[in-house]
Amino acid sequence: MTSHSAHRPAGGGHRRSVALFGGTFDPIHSGHIAVAQAAQRRFHLDAIYFIPSARPPHKSPSELTLFVHRYTMVALACADNPGFFPSLAEAPAGGAGPHAFYSIDTVKKFRREHPDDHVYFIVGADQFLGIPTWKNYEGLLDSCDFIVASRPGFRLDALRLVIPPEKLGRAPSHDGHKIVLRKSVVNLLTTVASHVSSTEVRERLQRKQVIRSLVPPRVEEYILGQALYR
Ligand code: ATP
Repeated sequence: MTSHSAHRPAGGGHRRSVALFGGTFDPIHSGHIAVAQAAQRRFHLDAIYFIPSARPPHKSPSELTLFVHRYTMVALACADNPGFFPSLAEAPAGGAGPHAFYSIDTVKKFRREHPDDHVYFIVGADQFLGIPTWKNYEGLLDSCDFIVASRPGFRLDALRLVIPPEKLGRAPSHDGHKIVLRKSVVNLLTTVASHVSSTEVRERLQRKQVIRSLVPPRVEEYILGQALYR
């Protein structure tokens, strides 16, 4: 798992390369899609699983739109993109309110269920810079390769600073495109620069402004039809 060169296992079969793309997706927007499309092209991904979190640890549950709406919008966006799949990996389990979901648990579970896949975790630069606050982030850094997408306002060269020095591999560990760790690789996706955020989409809707081009057409139709974010 230390490089993405070994796609074909000894048995001769095709080793799938897949990416997990977690988020709040409140709502999913064209920035998310641009990141996933760029990652799909560059890393020849067989599948990208979009994982809306029923309960992201860093967001207050009272601020969140119902999971069923967020999941539906993700599914609608995926329908227009071959190789994109909505995932229920962080869906509410029922019973009392959903517990927080942590990426380390989601990645480990996926790897247990799909031991032959080469797994990447997609994350924006803003989120990666906060990774030291995530549950068992050192374990997460060891557990899969990363695709970190550039986001306006965040410097990719700062990403190195959040990686514990003892995790860095031997020089050259940083070539501008990736940071090589002892057990994984943090790949930098510099070809996307989308300013869109879910916050902007929600704010525009509250101000009754148009959101065309900020979200996929089917997502716009769903938001307007369900009167979300008013
Ligand atoms: P909000 O504005 O509500 O905080 P958001 O737009 O950041 O939301 P999330 O669902 O929280 O959307 O993001 C999921 C993942 O996608 C995160 O890793 C985030 O960094 C990344 N991401 C979101 N928008 C962009 C973008 N425009 N460019 C690159 N990465 C992005």
